[in-house]
Amino acid sequence: MDFNALAELLFPEITKTPQDYEKIYPPRGGDGKVTRFAPSPTGFLHIGGLFAALISKRVAMESGGTFYLRIEDTDKKREIDDGVSEIIKGLEAFGVTPDEGVLGFEKESGNYGPYVQSRRREIYQTYAKELVRKGLAYPCFCGADYMESIKAQQEKEKVRTGYYGKWTRCRDLSLEEVKENIASGKSYVLRLRSPGSEENRISFIDGIKGKIEMPENDMDIVVLKSDGIPTYHFAHAVDDHLMGTTDVIRGDEWISSAPIHLQLFELLGFEAPKYSHISPIMKEDGGGKRKLSKRKDPEAAVTFYHEQGYPTNAVTEYLLTLANSNYEEWRRDNPALPNEDFPFSLDKMSVSGALFDLDKFNDVAKNDVTRYSADEIYDFATSWAEQYNIPLYKKLTDNPSYAKAIFAIERGGEKPRKDIAKWSDIEEYSAYFYDFNPTYENMPEIGKENIYALLTEYKKIYSPADENEAWFAKLKELALSMGYAKNPKEYKKNPDSYKGAVSDFATALRVAVTDRRNTPDLCAIMQVLGEKEALSRIDKAIEWSKK
Ligand code: GLU
Repeated sequence: MDFNALAELLFPEITKTPQDYEKIYPPRGGDGKVTRFAPSPTGFLHIGGLFAALISKRVAMESGGTFYLRIEDTDKKREIDDGVSEIIKGLEAFGVTPDEGVLGFEKESGNYGPYVQSRRREIYQTYAKELVRKGLAYPCFCGADYMESIKAQQEKEKVRTGYYGKWTRCRDLSLEEVKENIASGKSYVLRLRSPGSEENRISFIDGIKGKIEMPENDMDIVVLKSDGIPTYHFAHAVDDHLMGTTDVIRGDEWISSAPIHLQLFELLGFEAPKYSHISPIMKEDGGGKRKLSKRKDPEAAVTFYHEQGYPTNAVTEYLLTLANSNYEEWRRDNPALPNEDFPFSLDKMSVSGALFDLDKFNDVAKNDVTRYSADEIYDFATSWAEQYNIPLYKKLTDNPSYAKAIFAIERGGEKPRKDIAKWSDIEEYSAYFYDFNPTYENMPEIGKENIYALLTEYKKIYSPADENEAWFAKLKELALSMGYAKNPKEYKKNPDSYKGAVSDFATALRVAVTDRRNTPDLCAIMQVLGEKEALSRIDKAIEWSKK
């Protein structure tokens, strides 16, 4: 067979050679790792995708390298309209911005583009032509019907399905036969002429899973589909080579294809990248574990975090705890540092899938929220509310300094309260500052007459200027003088000698002012409400206690 003639027959319009492209895209040089996120724009960004992108970015960052975004849009049927911009927006929101590659609609940066696969057709064809010229690829006219029939036969014979060995009907067509087929308008795919054998084993060191051994690839896989578009396998090899990727970090559903990929790199004369395969994020379900599912779990879509108003940084923090087992400890030791300072390492990735736990995530989010100032909370919360909760947006923006004063309560101290995990929690958290329709059902069980008496007396000593300690000292002194035990234990010992404990006294006041038993610092709340409002609420409770 004259492979040169075959190559010209199949690719008459391809005039460049691989050497031309090697010149256009020279090796990057430097020691930094080059990683990429290579999604297909077939749906909204999934938390698993964000996880892979974050890991890829951190690996590049840690080594002073480059992280780029490539769009793998070779499957036009599955593409969705806003796919690309959703991915870009999604990454940006979580701070996983690429250093290079696709930046927006028809916008890219970097010297290794185009970074959108549908715009690289000529490049793939050039490398495909070279494979044909070397006798390593051939056109296959078998078509779907033949593939179906051999599959049925292979299943019957209980052998592996696929195009290999004796099933490769088009492997040895003559140039004449190929010409005839083409002349008669038959469509064809381009297949690899795999030199591999199932008997041989190959191995590679996975950056996460360690040494992996598998049988060598012996399938004549498709490299170009009938429309001339490459398969994932082929595009992966060509792109990651030309773009200078040193580390391919991707989902472990691709492990089974690694023998194909390693073979392609070798046949194309490329150095293979280092592979690191990430296990999927798991979820506990009915006592067992399963993959986080797009269909079943709302938290699988990154839109969930936006809608709920989780700080995007909290999502990053949580993904880092899932990615590196030592992240939590690092965070505890460095509460104030930005998470970019964490020394990320692939060695610390879990080999089996990390477990996504919504409660744990909420804790991480609460901790994250404690790190923001009242002004920052105000900005985050209003921009979230503007999109998702207009009544809250109006309340907050009607009086920004009031809202900020609410957020400032118990913020920034040694032991910050952790009431807010997400901006949508703020409505409930701050409700009594805005609308006050008390039911008093949380009042302590000390009898209405006692509540009447203590609130009436409290009004006499209340001074809005009192700061926390003085404020409480006064309250306590009054309570003791009115016959309240200094603590619940004392009270329980001699219930007949007291009206209750000082804590009951304080609870009555808290419920009068907030209608809740559990709130942040009451003194601060009363200061934010202001003297007039605080007194009017106490009066209202006094009225209630008279009935
Ligand atoms: N487009 C492939 C996917 O979305 C990329 C896999 C890879 O990172 O190589 O699964």
